[in-house]
Amino acid sequence: MTQAVRDGYAEQFYPRTEDLGPDEMRITALGTGRPFLRRSQANASWLIELGNGDKFVFDFGYGSQMNFTALEIPYQRITAWFATHLHTDHVGDFGQVWVGSWAGGRLKPLEVYGPSSNKPEYGFAHFIEHQMESFRWDTDSRVSALPAIGAEVNCHEFDYSKVHVIYDENGVKITSFPAVHIYDGPVSLKLEWKGRSFVYSGDTTPSEFMLENAKGVEVLVHETFNTVDQLMVRSGYDERSARAIGTMIHSAPAEAAYVVNQCDPKLFVAYHFFNDFDTVGEMETAIREHWKGRLAMATDFMVVNVTDEHIIVREAVVSDHVWPAKDEHEGFGDAPRKERLPMSEWLRERQVFPKF
Ligand SMILES: [Zn+2]
Ligand SMILES: [Zn+2]
Repeated sequence: MTQAVRDGYAEQFYPRTEDLGPDEMRITALGTGRPFLRRSQANASWLIELGNGDKFVFDFGYGSQMNFTALEIPYQRITAWFATHLHTDHVGDFGQVWVGSWAGGRLKPLEVYGPSSNKPEYGFAHFIEHQMESFRWDTDSRVSALPAIGAEVNCHEFDYSKVHVIYDENGVKITSFPAVHIYDGPVSLKLEWKGRSFVYSGDTTPSEFMLENAKGVEVLVHETFNTVDQLMVRSGYDERSARAIGTMIHSAPAEAAYVVNQCDPKLFVAYHFFNDFDTVGEMETAIREHWKGRLAMATDFMVVNVTDEHIIVREAVVSDHVWPAKDEHEGFGDAPRKERLPMSEWLRERQVFPKF
């Protein structure tokens, strides 16, 4: 993953120390693991920052937003969040995206994009509506203390079955195309801006949609699961389950590499597997059956800078003790609140230091 020439970049990435160039894109892995949370790898999530100031988050699986906080980026600066599908390892941190950004200083509605399915109840709008319904106590109990606008969510559900542009603003174009993953609904996402291009598979088995839409892209983040052997030996699955999980639901390493080789990106980032020193070699060997080009085996906090001249892959060095948005609460105090919910008299009168 390291390289000798870093073209003037620091060896490692430290939050808030580097401005992006006018045509630069920076991709940061917030979550790269499997649907189990572990300290070294959160569930799927990728941050894409552009030189024009836009910042997007693709997927927000469990635990990933803890890593987002560590990057010391005020939530207010995130342009929009996008989901590839409704598996919780891709959208489980929605509650944290919502409330973390609200309490963290967001003075505009949360903008979230996600795919439909072949039935409304399997669609993104249904998911968001019911998540928010389940947060009713949370919402109503906070709107008097926090800016009321921050509770609002603008949900943009788009058609999962088409290859189409779902976001086109400020020179940034984001295209959705179908992913073949268990059932109708999942998509992959492609971001294009000022000559930069990035494709994120979400979860997918090898598919013609990927071949058609990721050809020649600069950075391709494609999923691959651990090998079937590893799933049997290290995760304890029987062979049938290991094959189902590792090859029928996800892309096996060699399968992902087969697709990537035809897409021929400048950099292939493999993610969605447990990346340990004693298993990653086996995965790389499988990938190298088909892909001889540049490869990064993703870990959380992997940072990729892309310009016309180069693609730099580094690790971010972060603090475990970040207080988010410490210098970006402008307008927070003056933003309108809603009325406080009246607490029951018998509770209120038991306050030792009466406040209200
Ligand atoms: Zn999935
Ligand atoms: Zn997944």
